[in-house]
Amino acid sequence: MRVKKPRGVFDILPDKLEKWQHLEGVVRDLAHVYGYREIRTPIFEFTELFQRGVGEETDIVAKEMYTFPDRRGRSLSLRPEGTAAVVRAFIEHNMHAWPQPVKLYYIGPMFRYDRPQAGRYRQFHQFGVEVFGCAEPAVDAEVIKLLLQFYEVLGLKGISLEISSVGCPKCRNEFTDALVSYIRPQTAGLCKDCRNRLHRNPLRLLDCKEPGCRGLLTEAPVPLNYLCPVCAAHFAALRNELLALNISYNINPHLVRGLDYYTGTSFEVMHAGIGAQNAIGAGGRYDNLVQTCGGPPTPGVGFAVGIERTLMALQDQGIGFPDAAQEGVFVVSVGEGTLRHALRVVQALREAGIRADRDYAGRGLKTQLKQAHRRGVKWVVIVGEEEISRGNVALRAMDTGEQIEVNESELIPRLRAWRA
Ligand code: AMP
Repeated sequence: MRVKKPRGVFDILPDKLEKWQHLEGVVRDLAHVYGYREIRTPIFEFTELFQRGVGEETDIVAKEMYTFPDRRGRSLSLRPEGTAAVVRAFIEHNMHAWPQPVKLYYIGPMFRYDRPQAGRYRQFHQFGVEVFGCAEPAVDAEVIKLLLQFYEVLGLKGISLEISSVGCPKCRNEFTDALVSYIRPQTAGLCKDCRNRLHRNPLRLLDCKEPGCRGLLTEAPVPLNYLCPVCAAHFAALRNELLALNISYNINPHLVRGLDYYTGTSFEVMHAGIGAQNAIGAGGRYDNLVQTCGGPPTPGVGFAVGIERTLMALQDQGIGFPDAAQEGVFVVSVGEGTLRHALRVVQALREAGIRADRDYAGRGLKTQLKQAHRRGVKWVVIVGEEEISRGNVALRAMDTGEQIEVNESELIPRLRAWRA
């Protein structure tokens, strides 16, 4: 029997992968101009990191992690998100002693045992940034600007930004007291999970997906209305910074991200064209996370973008990327003894940085041209006995069919000029 791939994961085949690489190039260029440097952390960590960092009561940790014992019985988990591991690395490598703020970015796979559907997978990929060591709202705004510029550079339209503040632990206490008092008389209508959450982590009530609970919570208190003066001032300052950067947004007081570590600013970017899973990027401030994970008090802010969903949104808008195959050259050899010559031409092109391929078996001209056509290359170079005797090759543009004979020494400059 054939072994198939597990549910919720997928292969990325070359055609699609070239789109991924284009997107990754945009990420790297953008991160670079904003002064972020890449970090790569392991795919798995001790489970405890996510329990402490992301929060034991969150769906991500309680229900969606791939957790397994290693051969010595220690509990490991595939990372369900990127921030906790970057924080662990920040602490482990004493990055608080680096010039502050420390600005990092990552791209890589994340794993969640979620119910697969369009835009929701068990292995998916995120691009994320984290800034440590600066609590100023100007950094929150910069991070949001970087996120929006990422979509802009890709050409994605129709996105909307929602912002809110979930406040610090002080605001959180007041808010959760209000929430618990509000919901207590209606406890019977809550799902089993929410009845537990009510005692253990009431904030998580707000991200329950059960329709019954959602109904009960529509009029419930929201964190934004319980901000302490410091958090309220931070949020007001953030709004001014966004204004200065010409960024439009909606305030969504119901925005509570499904991770415990957020304090203050939280934000989400949506795209309307991709169905129910319409959040394409999200983030916020996590000023206590470094300390929670055992490091010195260090403020932090960041975001994570879902790469699959971003590509879906681009596809929805019919936005294409440059097709690498179109740039290529296919070298066709015609006649006895021309194969070796074709090899030299192919190598010369490759060494000049031009993508080139050929038919290895020296089949008939028609077959070779068909092969060139199927590959979708832009140019065909024909190496025939007659041309060789004149020191020339034929160069054909596949889109127009135009063909010229050029001296072999002219081929590379000619292709470059034509390409430019
Ligand atoms: P989160 O870490 O939950 O804040 O998610 C950040 C972004 O990652 C979301 O806005 C999505 O674009 C993406 N994302 C989260 N979970 C999944 C998933 N299971 N499959 C695909 N993308 C996801």
